[in-house]
Amino acid sequence: MISSPPSLYVHVPFCSGKCAYCNFYSVLYDTDLAGRWLAALEREMEMARQRVAFDSVRTVYFGGGTPSVLNAVQLARLLSIVASRLDPGQIAEVTIEANPGTLTPEKLSLMKEHGVTRISFGAQTFQDRVLPALKRRHLARDTRDSIRQAREAGFENLGLDLIAGLPGVPMELWRADIREALSLAPAHISVYALTIEASSEFARWLQSGLIRIPDDDTMLAYLSEAEQILCSAGFERYEISNYASNRRYCLHNLNCWRGLEYVGFGPAAASRLGQLRWCNRPSISQYIESLESGNPPPRDEETVDASVDCAERLVFAFRISEGVDMENVPSASPEQKSAWLRTLNRLAGEGLVERNGNRWRLTSFGTRFADFVASELFSS
Ligand code: SF4
Repeated sequence: MISSPPSLYVHVPFCSGKCAYCNFYSVLYDTDLAGRWLAALEREMEMARQRVAFDSVRTVYFGGGTPSVLNAVQLARLLSIVASRLDPGQIAEVTIEANPGTLTPEKLSLMKEHGVTRISFGAQTFQDRVLPALKRRHLARDTRDSIRQAREAGFENLGLDLIAGLPGVPMELWRADIREALSLAPAHISVYALTIEASSEFARWLQSGLIRIPDDDTMLAYLSEAEQILCSAGFERYEISNYASNRRYCLHNLNCWRGLEYVGFGPAAASRLGQLRWCNRPSISQYIESLESGNPPPRDEETVDASVDCAERLVFAFRISEGVDMENVPSASPEQKSAWLRTLNRLAGEGLVERNGNRWRLTSFGTRFADFVASELFSS
């Protein structure tokens, strides 16, 4: 039996359509299919209990896909399936991702009853001319209304996601997006740089010249502008893409960045337990059929060696502003730690990382080159 990880993730593989930039695994929401998926999820969790003691997790995260697209009865069932297998006394945070316009007062009240503490809304932009072009199924007023309704239902810990560098959102509109997000007074704002995923419609549109995306320098300017406006408004950039006011961090993601374990359920969900990694295959039909016939879902599993495991955790931890205590960081061998320290000293000379006592972290300049720092550390 593998001892309890601190975090549990459920991948809800349904959306009401496919956004043009997205390559997260999801299928079109269908009530009957979602019913079968819920039954399969319950079986997966029941089977996993014999292998992983996950009953005392501290954080739960319902992502996707769009968890809020489930109807009220199914949403309540999802929350019960998970909550009934956990010790409520241990839980510090339950997050659910939602798209603007998909949460009704009934769903919000069910979420409150079932212990949801945090809602993360995918706003992406407030530009009504851009949202339909992204194939989002909401407008800016839906984001405003959703935040208001969530507050009326008693939720205080609310987050908004924004995407920097969207076609049709030049710098002045990007500034307006950030200010509009701030005007809604969320606890948390995530700012993601637009990336072109190979299987997305954006990749095809880009190739055929239908859209243009910012070059690296322009993207950095968008991200710097976000940092400047959000930090001036009192938000703390506690991770490369994440800002919190009054230390209202996303504890679930913070655990993952700190290198702690997590277990995931649902198609495409990943798990990390010690040196073991597995990821369920991104196929709802295989997931359901396998569990309906009494077998675990098909998945890819590997045991990484200790040096890879330690390097992965180190690289994740460098994403967060608290940095890494290099004196106490786990390493596979004294040689591995010495190699990391040599690399860090070299990167410090280039202004990418800085040291305070035993703690090392990215400099503000270094956050722009976080991927480079990660690959240098990983290959040390
Ligand atoms: S961005 Fe979110 S809502 Fe849009 S398709 Fe991807 S998972 Fe679904």
